[in-house]
Amino acid sequence: MIKVASLTKRYGEIEALRRVEFDVASGDIVGLLGPNGAGKSTTIRCLTGFLHPDEGEITVDGLNVLERPSEVQARVGYLPENTPLYSDMTVQGYLRMIADLRGVPESEKLALISGAVFATGLDQRLTQPIGQLSKGFRQRVGIAQAILHRPRLLILDEPTIGLDPTQVVEIRNLIKSLASHSTILFSSHILSEVEAVCDRVIILINGEVKADARLEELAQSQDATLVLQENVEGVEKNLLSLSGVNQVVPLRTSEGYAEFRVVGESNFDLCPAVFDVVRREGWSLRELRRDVRTLETVFTELVNST
Ligand code: ATP
Repeated sequence: MIKVASLTKRYGEIEALRRVEFDVASGDIVGLLGPNGAGKSTTIRCLTGFLHPDEGEITVDGLNVLERPSEVQARVGYLPENTPLYSDMTVQGYLRMIADLRGVPESEKLALISGAVFATGLDQRLTQPIGQLSKGFRQRVGIAQAILHRPRLLILDEPTIGLDPTQVVEIRNLIKSLASHSTILFSSHILSEVEAVCDRVIILINGEVKADARLEELAQSQDATLVLQENVEGVEKNLLSLSGVNQVVPLRTSEGYAEFRVVGESNFDLCPAVFDVVRREGWSLRELRRDVRTLETVFTELVNST
């Protein structure tokens, strides 16, 4: 659905994006994650044709964004970081105006507006001026305008920013429900949000893609932690002799037991081989586990390594 190749964008001296590359398959929910200033909004503005990149190519549904912008925009629903909503207009007046601007034929208008209104739970607010709505409901109006023309691709820039925890959950559920019709790319710097909603995550740091993987792949770890009742000679040497082990880091648990982090070089479970050594050497085992990484661990490691 999206193909981004070697995307580079500069603002004067600032290189906001550096040869960014990624693909998004149809039907995926992808989170674009990164700290402040990482380049998330710049990527999204380039994808939606609102910004011209300095280098690189973007195609959406097989169409080049720069060469065929109006056809791309007809396929894309976009919620910008700050959606320009008209506070004096009622919800239905605003959505009618959007339908007119998008050239929706009169015969389809009612069905499309109703579809967007029901999907976003705005049916009780139609006659209310947008300025009188809570922030969460204003955000729903923003999403309603984005999905009104039933786009195949939905791009949402920080859809839950500034919302209270209940509204955040509501908008997250809404995003998940919209995925049955559209491919979704949304930016966020909230790790738990990406974890709760996405199939895949792209982590952008300083304008570069630092990770691009399905959530379950990111969370996998080849590392193992071994805890022994007491330290004995030769543990590090024995573990390092195992095939696939890259490094053994001696640590100590808070209770004072000898702990070893066994770091592997490829993505397979080291625990069975470590257990064989423990048995062979007769070490008194207290604990052996495969380390589980969270998105937070991966993100923190990436941010700290740049
Ligand atoms: P945030 O999470 O804070 O919204 P972001 O990941 O969306 O950040 P961008 O807004 O894309 O990041 O900004 C990327 C870099 O480009 C930052 O260094 C920012 O200061 C810079 N930048 C963005 N827009 C402009 C602009 N119009 N003029 C100059 N520099 C800009």
